[in-house]
Amino acid sequence: MWWVMFDGKPAGGENKADVIYAHLMARAMGDGFDAHVFASNIALAHCLDTSAPGRGLGLSPLAFRRLLDAVFPGSAIHVDLASCSGEDALEEADLRALLLSGRARGTVIEEWMAAILARSCQRPNHLWQDLGLRNRGELSELMNRYFPGLAALNVRDMKWKKFFYRQLCLAENVPICKSPVCDACADFAQCFGAEEARPLLGCGI
Ligand code: SF4
Repeated sequence: MWWVMFDGKPAGGENKADVIYAHLMARAMGDGFDAHVFASNIALAHCLDTSAPGRGLGLSPLAFRRLLDAVFPGSAIHVDLASCSGEDALEEADLRALLLSGRARGTVIEEWMAAILARSCQRPNHLWQDLGLRNRGELSELMNRYFPGLAALNVRDMKWKKFFYRQLCLAENVPICKSPVCDACADFAQCFGAEEARPLLGCGI
């Protein structure tokens, strides 16, 4: 799925995700953290196998074009209108709505962030990894910056993906927990604790 192209040629090479990330960051405008998050996610999403769960960015082609023009002007990236969005999972709209319910300022950047977060939740690794970020701290910074109203509810620092799904279950009144209290739950380690792992980006994919 070559929807990132430079001057009409597919972005390639042995470390194509790193190449795309560096290409975008060299043309970034505005807030450096915004650019880092988007460049990381675009680079990683581009390199996912076409059969991988959660492929694509979760952005419409038009939204992706606007993001590139706003955050990476002059990146000369071709947007394949047929392939950059990928398929919505069943709960993706609910995840986007949950995130935006706690948004900071009502900006379009927050809407783009919500879309890539909701899509990245469909992938199998730690959420910070599947966003293309370097560590969990970057994801917590993202949450506190763009979705502070929601982030503030995560008082015990639950793993973010688990936290989002728990919020959705609470909203629907569909309990999935094995215990009424986390401290007595057999799944405690799956919901809390360190998320030590290698970043997926910057490793030569
Ligand atoms: S630790 Fe157990 S009770 Fe707490 S959120 Fe996780 S599954 Fe639910």
